[in-house]
Amino acid sequence: MRYTGPVCRLCRREGEKLYLKGDKCYTDKCPVQRRGYAPGQHGQSRKKLSEYGLQLRMKQRLRRVYGVSERQMENYYRSAARKRGITGEILLQTLEMRLDNIVFRLGIGASRPQARQLVMHGHISVNGHKVDIPSYEVKAGDVIAVRESSRNLDLVKINVEAASERALPEWLEFDIEKIEGRVLAVPTREQIDVPVEEHLVVEYYSR
Ligand code: SF4
Repeated sequence: MRYTGPVCRLCRREGEKLYLKGDKCYTDKCPVQRRGYAPGQHGQSRKKLSEYGLQLRMKQRLRRVYGVSERQMENYYRSAARKRGITGEILLQTLEMRLDNIVFRLGIGASRPQARQLVMHGHISVNGHKVDIPSYEVKAGDVIAVRESSRNLDLVKINVEAASERALPEWLEFDIEKIEGRVLAVPTREQIDVPVEEHLVVEYYSR
């Protein structure tokens, strides 16, 4: 079941900024910065995690960053494990190429949850065709845009403006006038800035 409670709690549980909220994440109002301990009654007591506990926490963190369900994550893992290469890296690359993530990375959505909404509500196109599936797998070379009919949405304008102040990942390009971006390449591990040790996630699933 999808978590619908306060999202900042998820970041506090992980002790990391997961950027789930949009603009607030970039200000000093972020609760992880203000209260850097876990939520709840025992949040401030120190707990040493077992090896399994660490793997589980990391897997949960990865799921929360990208907003995917347990079943989806398991499928992503299985498919990554079948491919040639480093499973953890392939897993991260696959998650980065989700359409909702790209919409967030381009700055069209202020957070991944918001980017997901924009996709589901039919505001986004890939290579000129409407795509409303957040998990849609984007390929290198694809052009991601806000559809003509949605270009005047205040939300999109505000997001794009705010994002122009931040650096765009080097594997993407963005035309602020057209509100259109292109994926230049699949990102390398070094280009993916998520606070996750993916080898622990792989260990979790390969137990
Ligand atoms: Fe909330 Fe964003 Fe800070 Fe996470 S990073 S705690 S979502 S403000």
